[in-house]
Amino acid sequence: MIARRSPDEIEAIRAACQIVSRVHGALAERIAPGVSTAILDELAEETIRSHGADPAFKGYHGFPASICASVNDEAVHGFPRPDPLQEGDVLCVDVGVRLNGWFGDGAFTLAVGELAADVEGLLRATQQALDAGVRAAVADKHLSDISHAVETIANEAGVTVIQEYGGHGIGRELHEEPHIPNHGAPGRGPRLQVGQVIAIEPIFSLGAPEVVVDEDGWTTRTKDGSAAAHFEHTVAITKEGPRMLTEPRTATIAAAG
Ligand code: MG
Repeated sequence: MIARRSPDEIEAIRAACQIVSRVHGALAERIAPGVSTAILDELAEETIRSHGADPAFKGYHGFPASICASVNDEAVHGFPRPDPLQEGDVLCVDVGVRLNGWFGDGAFTLAVGELAADVEGLLRATQQALDAGVRAAVADKHLSDISHAVETIANEAGVTVIQEYGGHGIGRELHEEPHIPNHGAPGRGPRLQVGQVIAIEPIFSLGAPEVVVDEDGWTTRTKDGSAAAHFEHTVAITKEGPRMLTEPRTATIAAAG
């Protein structure tokens, strides 16, 4: 059962998502060699709370921070740390916000200084896969059309889908039905309907698809140590087509309604 939201409810989710975008914009301006992900986490929490919202990840099943900050071979769910980012690092930042009982979720990956060409290609492919997934989020298409669109970009770019993770429904909870795999044949699963709100989030690596979880129970890294990238938007399926609720990244907050 995939929830369908009214236009007013979608605006309420969008209001949470616009704070996610604002945090992304603030962090993107700050990310540089020498800056720690712990500082970025503090900045994210301040920004979220300054808008009267709560960081959705903090305390979520015991997660200790307001952002997931995953560096280099860390694919998802990395803990912010006090040690400084280095030139050539690749940083995935995932941000969740709860506002008035509604959730928004979005992630991006950024180069810290100059990246190696293959890592730059990985980032580009992951971003393009997100865009392709969003374009497939159209009423009457099947859920797995999104999965297939994402996987097709990975295959074309010669990068690897980390299959353990995927997108999800979102709204009253951070994670709702359905799970949205980032791989698979098209034309499967339920048909998408106007009013559904989903988070689409390709997670790709340069190497093998296997991941391992650290002893902290969260930090998920590629088993072969290759770099990973992760982009995510919260998207509403509307009569007019997919609407990215977490765009644009550097926007000031737009009024809801
Ligand atoms: Mg998510």
